[in-house]
Amino acid sequence: MTLLHDAPTVPTQFPARRTWVRRIHGGGQRVETCPEWCTDHHRNDTSGHLDDLQHGAHFDGPLLPVFDAEQGTVPMPILAGRLSVDPYSSDPRRNRPHVHLEPYADEVMECLTPSELATIIGQLRAHCDQLDDVLGRLVEARAEAGGA
Ligand SMILES: [Zn+2]
Repeated sequence: MTLLHDAPTVPTQFPARRTWVRRIHGGGQRVETCPEWCTDHHRNDTSGHLDDLQHGAHFDGPLLPVFDAEQGTVPMPILAGRLSVDPYSSDPRRNRPHVHLEPYADEVMECLTPSELATIIGQLRAHCDQLDDVLGRLVEARAEAGGA
């Protein structure tokens, strides 16, 4: 779960667990409490349907300079995402903490369980090993071509 260590930390001005009263559409109110890892501001969560509530923490991914015909390159984030839980969802994939992983911009792998995320991390590590091999071959190929 090393990605979680890269997640933004909870700002120190907030207590570790935030609590507020939320009016529920259709009647009633509830006292909501954030899990310790939630960094959402919840400014728009003072009222709503019971199952509208979501807690979460965004994590960034590296920006890669991707070719762009007009600008040369543009920074493209990869492997960003969000640790999330929808505490009142009837969907068992959403009402337990899960990860939404964005392999690249505007694409998402929803509701990853720990084992699903671990599988993806393993695939990425294996691919980085493969990229190390490609790097070695690139260096050799350039040396053979007489360049650095
Ligand atoms: Zn929260």
